[in-house]
Amino acid sequence: MHLCRKISPRLNSTDNFAACIDHYIFNSVIDASLSQNFLPARRPTDNFAACIDLNDLFSMIINSEGIVLRQRKIANNRRMIVLFTKRYGKLSAGTSINEKSKSRSALALRPFTYAEYDIFKGRETYSINSSQVLKSFYSIGEDIDRFIMASSFIEYLDKVLAEGEPMPHLFDLSLEFLESVSHAGKSAETLLLAYIYKTLKMLGVAPELTCCVNCGKKPSEFGGNSGIRSFSVTSGGIICDECEKEEKTNPNALIYKPSFDIITVFVYFDSKPLKTFEKIDLKPEVLTEVRTILAEYIDRYLGTDVLRQSIGPEV
Ligand SMILES: [Zn+2]
Repeated sequence: MHLCRKISPRLNSTDNFAACIDHYIFNSVIDASLSQNFLPARRPTDNFAACIDLNDLFSMIINSEGIVLRQRKIANNRRMIVLFTKRYGKLSAGTSINEKSKSRSALALRPFTYAEYDIFKGRETYSINSSQVLKSFYSIGEDIDRFIMASSFIEYLDKVLAEGEPMPHLFDLSLEFLESVSHAGKSAETLLLAYIYKTLKMLGVAPELTCCVNCGKKPSEFGGNSGIRSFSVTSGGIICDECEKEEKTNPNALIYKPSFDIITVFVYFDSKPLKTFEKIDLKPEVLTEVRTILAEYIDRYLGTDVLRQSIGPEV
């Protein structure tokens, strides 16, 4: 990583292969077997083409903070780890690091761990060379409620992230979630709902709350003074009475009229730091309604049923 930056300018030169090799030999962080395979095949006279290849090779060591989303066994005693990395987004990387060992690298591959990874990027594959724990949120595993919420969080991230698309703000928010859920009590579900709501804007699917999503009318012009607004999952936001009537003519319309002011709850979710929800619970009946609406919303716009399948009673 640092190496790549250091030598890249040289590698762009057309007559600098020997220098490239010097750097390769003395600074290499790539394992020895790779260098043995590589070096004899090249001679300084091949300089231009070889330097291009070497440039490829060097530029392929990447480094990033990340969290593990899931893993599975693959051939040759290796495992495939799906990471959410801060710099490169979601990526799948193979590794031969033994999960049962007590090494630093093995500890960094466990669930609910924030770690730094050195990854070799081949032409089409990634491989984790080494990793180091930056923080372990081990207390998540000590409480069933925290564990369920954190597991839903991981499943949600795995579903909504696209491979190779960096989302550093979402990464930071996700790290905040792990921090908060690791010492949350009963409020872990409110915390998860607030987290999911906050991600909607980052994922480009935030609902419209400032005006009727269909006609643009302001909430103050909706009429009535209860402060209760209908929310259309189908249209993606709050909806005025006239548009609600019209939309209901569609048998597939999904419109909720919650018993509380949904604008207040969603704006609260959006505006307060995630940490706030470590200690604050929504009332049970409000929590159920918010969960129901968000479950339908993320199913429709993000294609995940994570809020339906793993939390509380059926919605
Ligand atoms: Zn309207």
